[in-house]
Amino acid sequence: QVETLKAKLLEQAQEISRLRSEQGGTDAEKHRDLLAAENERLRQEMKACEGELRELQRQQQAPCRDCPHLQENAVLQEQLSQLQREAEEMRAKLVELDLEVQQKTNRLAEVELRLKDSLAERAEEEERLSRRLRDSQETIASLKSQPQQIKYIIKTVEVESAKAKQALCETQSRNQYLQEQVGMQKQVLKEMEQQLQRSQKTEAQLRAQIMMYEAELERAHGQMLEEMQAMEEEKNHAIEEAFSRAQVEMKAVHENLAGVRTNLLTLQPALRTLTHDYNSLKRQVRDFPVLLQETLRSARAEISQAIEEVHSTNRELLRKYRRELQLRKKCHNELVRLKGNIRVFGRVRPITKEDGEGPEAANAVTFDADDDAVLYLLHKGKQVSFELDKVFPPQASQEEVGATVHTAGVREGGSHLLLTLPCLSQVFQEVQALVTSCIDGYNVCIFAYGQTGAGKTYTMEGTAANPGINQRALQLLFSEVRGKAADWDYTITVSAAEIYNEALRDLLGKEPQEKLEIKLCPDGSGQLYVPGLTEFRVQSVEDINKVFESGHIKRVTECTNLNEHSSRSHALLIVTVRGLDRSTGLRTTGKLNLVDLAGSERVGRSGAEGSRLREAQHINKSLSALGDVIYALRSRQGHVPFRNSKLTYLLQDSLSGDSKTLMMVQVSPAEKNTSETLCSLKFAERVRSVELGPVSRKAELGSWPSQEHLEVLGGHCWCPSSSPSPQGSPLHASPSPGQLSSRSASIRRKLHTSG
Ligand code: ADP
Ligand code: MG
Repeated sequence: QVETLKAKLLEQAQEISRLRSEQGGTDAEKHRDLLAAENERLRQEMKACEGELRELQRQQQAPCRDCPHLQENAVLQEQLSQLQREAEEMRAKLVELDLEVQQKTNRLAEVELRLKDSLAERAEEEERLSRRLRDSQETIASLKSQPQQIKYIIKTVEVESAKAKQALCETQSRNQYLQEQVGMQKQVLKEMEQQLQRSQKTEAQLRAQIMMYEAELERAHGQMLEEMQAMEEEKNHAIEEAFSRAQVEMKAVHENLAGVRTNLLTLQPALRTLTHDYNSLKRQVRDFPVLLQETLRSARAEISQAIEEVHSTNRELLRKYRRELQLRKKCHNELVRLKGNIRVFGRVRPITKEDGEGPEAANAVTFDADDDAVLYLLHKGKQVSFELDKVFPPQASQEEVGATVHTAGVREGGSHLLLTLPCLSQVFQEVQALVTSCIDGYNVCIFAYGQTGAGKTYTMEGTAANPGINQRALQLLFSEVRGKAADWDYTITVSAAEIYNEALRDLLGKEPQEKLEIKLCPDGSGQLYVPGLTEFRVQSVEDINKVFESGHIKRVTECTNLNEHSSRSHALLIVTVRGLDRSTGLRTTGKLNLVDLAGSERVGRSGAEGSRLREAQHINKSLSALGDVIYALRSRQGHVPFRNSKLTYLLQDSLSGDSKTLMMVQVSPAEKNTSETLCSLKFAERVRSVELGPVSRKAELGSWPSQEHLEVLGGHCWCPSSSPSPQGSPLHASPSPGQLSSRSASIRRKLHTSG
């Protein structure tokens, strides 16, 4: 047992020494020291790097204040500071790790200390046990020598060995405990080793990071250096450029300077003269108000004198203008007197479809190639010639007018009519002068006379495509008025009336059936007026057209067997032109009466009865009265029988005095109409053939027979007579039943002479 105990003890001692060598406390310490030294080295390196970095930054900041790479630099610096921050963090981590290592080292020292203590305790215990073992061995030896005693001693030993056994057990348990302690220590050591390994790993990582940062720093540094070099190059280049530019500019400036110098030299005398001028101007400015006042005074005087002169010139001009106006009027009147203020035209319509075919529709009218005032009618095998103021052949049609306008190429605007007038058909050219004189303040009457179907309405109104006298006259009127608008204000009004069965009716009024009366103006001027006759103020041809249309609607037309659409009434369009000359205040009033007379055919031929007969009688009466009036006027009789019909009475002021009258006698060229044509032409010639002048005035005092009377006389028309009527007197101009027989002789006589 003792031997085994010894062996165990020896084993334990060996174990302890092994453990002591294994513990490696010194290794850990060495390692820690190594780490601390490494740390210190890294710190030194870092410091050196920072110093370098600072130096670099300083260098960088100094030359690159206005550098274009400043921004890039700032980015790099930002990166650098980021890296520095990260390095700082790493450093803090390192310090922390250091602290941990320190703590662990401390704990390790503590554990070692405790281990040392327990080892010392164990040594003591071993010492004690070995001592006791030696004592026991000595005792055994002594006992051996004393056998008697040995038994006793053995017994004692046995007793004591139990004790020893117990002690051994205790020691064993104690040993057990110590081994456990050693195991625990080993465990702790293992943990610590692991920790150490971890911290080593972290350190390696940190070192790698630091290396990376260093590389980064190196790169940044390199980049920075490169950039700085590039900037330096740029700077040098820019400096070189600026230098060369500056040299060039300098040269130019030098040249300029030289120029300026020479200029200065030349300017000096100019400056001297300028100073001189300035001084003189100053003097002038000082004297200017006085001069100005003087000049103003003289200018005012001159202006007032000029105004005075202009005034007197104006007065003189106005006086001359008025005299001129009067002269013009006088000349005009003279012209009218020479031309005759009653003119008679004849117009022959073409043969139409309505005339039918065969010998009845044959043409019976021919013209004189050399004289446009003569026409020949073949009547009952004889050629009868008539001379009027002018004769229009069938080809003088509105179509022709349209064609002329078309080829002239003038279509639009107010000037249209004026421009094309010279090439218009003769019909309207002749009418033109009358329209103009209406604007000048004269009264004008244009009548269309003739049998139904002879072309009265065609001549007066025309068709939409080929307008007649009415439209053209009004167009001319408006364009003339527009032309004079600079000096004159014109007011144009229109009225439309109809005379049917000797009753006057308003065609534009609300009540067309109402009969109107012709009255003498109560102001004693002798002027006539029709109370209730509607008057429309018009400003354009379109306005007038509307008036025409409404007039058409209301016009009374009846059918006869001669012409379905023949008009049995006189249609009047009355246009009043009132003018005011703004410069002189002169006022004019002119009236244009456009009359489409009722058919002049004889009653017997139209086969009318009853009311138709009465109608025809009225027409005959009024047409005869018109003939009488015109006859009386043209022969300048003292008395003109205006009152014999509504028509002449209404037109009294437009037929007398300075007034102008145009009678457009329409005839049909057809063989079947020769009788009526003859009548119409005789009527025309009658009016026209009355000689003007004092002799004929004296001679022509007779009156006209009515158409009815012509019928009584066996279908022959009354012819112009130069002999005075037996009963003719200014006061009894209109025919009376008693006068008819006495006049018939002269009519017959005249018929023979012209027939
Ligand atoms: P009125 O009014 O005398 O009874 P219209 O003017 O109605 O006669 O004419 C009768 C017919 O003759 C109409 O169809 C008309 O177109 C035609 N006519 C009259 N004169 C001419 C002319 N100069 N050229 C062509 N046709 C005409
Ligand atoms: Mg008609």
